[in-house]
Amino acid sequence: MATAPNKRKCAVIGCGNVGASIAYTYTMSGLFSEMVLIDLNRAKAEGEAMDLSHGLPFLSPMKIYAGGYADLTDAFLIIIAAGANQKEGETRLQLLSTNLKIFASIVRQIKQYTTSAILLVVTNPVDVLTYYTMRVSGYPPEKVIGSGTVLDTARLKQLLGNYLSVDSRNIHAFIIGEHGDSELAVWSSANISGIDLDDYFRITGACNDNECLQDMFADVRDAAYRIIAGKGATYYAIAQAVMRITQSILRDENTVMPVSTLLHGEYGISDVCLGVPAVVGVTGVKRVLEIPLDENELQKLRKSAQTVKQELADCHASFV
Ligand code: NAD
Repeated sequence: MATAPNKRKCAVIGCGNVGASIAYTYTMSGLFSEMVLIDLNRAKAEGEAMDLSHGLPFLSPMKIYAGGYADLTDAFLIIIAAGANQKEGETRLQLLSTNLKIFASIVRQIKQYTTSAILLVVTNPVDVLTYYTMRVSGYPPEKVIGSGTVLDTARLKQLLGNYLSVDSRNIHAFIIGEHGDSELAVWSSANISGIDLDDYFRITGACNDNECLQDMFADVRDAAYRIIAGKGATYYAIAQAVMRITQSILRDENTVMPVSTLLHGEYGISDVCLGVPAVVGVTGVKRVLEIPLDENELQKLRKSAQTVKQELADCHASFV
């Protein structure tokens, strides 16, 4: 008989820079009382479990251990952060063939032990791998979530907040589409605590320079390349983004976030996972929100969907 998922238990598959950083945020959060770390490199998972456990006397009690796929039977949330990361100059989509092979083995093993967890995909290219995981696992679409453009949106908020000298949490603006080069900023509905961006510029006298906003978007889109050139990988901010998604799931907060999820005709797009605003809660993605876009944004979103669809078509033979 299937074991019911334990809401206090999570698993992290892939304990490299990203997986270990996510696990670290989980120890700080107090949301879980059990966390299993799984990695092809068992010694790495064991080392991370020991290191994280040694911080527990300063935090809340938690059982942290290196384990295997059989430990997933009662996990409520499974993070998948295993796989190669981008090398300098490499696009996320170029990672695809390597990470598809890794996912084939991981997804097969997950579904052998549980069909009732929520799967949160972080590995790149995240939109393609979210779709792959959903199709191959047989899980319902709402229970397979990609981190999507939650990180990219945070990058935009941080830059815009800095530019406007306002708390980045008061910025409401989305990056949507592929978590990658074809993503776009939704400037048409960007606002600061409900104040339209143009009005905010007028009220504050800040320089409303379209070129400046375009540069800001380019900085968001290319941020990973610059970070990778500097330190080899990106991991702290994605860990915070995953923590925020996790919080909304565990606490059923119904937060609106641009996670990667299956589209069923929204924006005239179907049968592809993309980062779009969605309500996220304890059952996973509860609803995709079709936010207003201007014509230019809509065309860019559809083009972004085409980019991801082309990748899916190229690797269709892997979908068995
Ligand atoms: P990393 O190389 O540091 O770690 C990857 C880990 O996966 C390693 O520990 C490796 O042993 C493990 N692994 C490989 N194959 C495995 C398998 N079959 N089963 C279990 N574990 C396996 O890489 P990283 O920097 O942690 O990045 C991981 C992924 O996260 C990359 O694809 C990266 O592009 C992606 N990433 C995504 C975002 C996002 O916004 N979605 C942000 C940053 C990084």
